[in-house]
Amino acid sequence: MVDVHSKETRSYNMSQIKGKNTKPEILVRKFLFAQGYRYRLHNKKLPGTPDLVLPKYKTVIFIHGCFWHRHEGCRYFVIPKTRTEWWLNKINGNVRKDIESINLLKSMGWRILILWECDLKPDKKEHRLELLLKELNANE
Ligand SMILES: [Zn+2]
Repeated sequence: MVDVHSKETRSYNMSQIKGKNTKPEILVRKFLFAQGYRYRLHNKKLPGTPDLVLPKYKTVIFIHGCFWHRHEGCRYFVIPKTRTEWWLNKINGNVRKDIESINLLKSMGWRILILWECDLKPDKKEHRLELLLKELNANE
């Protein structure tokens, strides 16, 4: 069987499926790194495997896809018309896990910041990233 996908395409598809190393995620990483912040990626030892962990700030950051994490009222959260029930189950399961992880992280003393994909679109990202810096530095 011939694999028609290039290696790049394949790893991109995989990253979309696993929801790791997505475009908005890379945007946030690059921005924070340029601002001098250092972080760990996808720390599996923490509940929910946060996308970024900033130990110095006792802060974890999740970059959520609007569809997969049910961004209420967002135009990117649209329930598919086919296999609707399957999708809803899947997405509700994600949301349930998100809530669990957040509660666990809170109880461990972490501060949780959630960034939505839609706020990281080209027309909005500047504003959102500015706000992120403020959130990070609004300590205690
Ligand atoms: Zn959204």
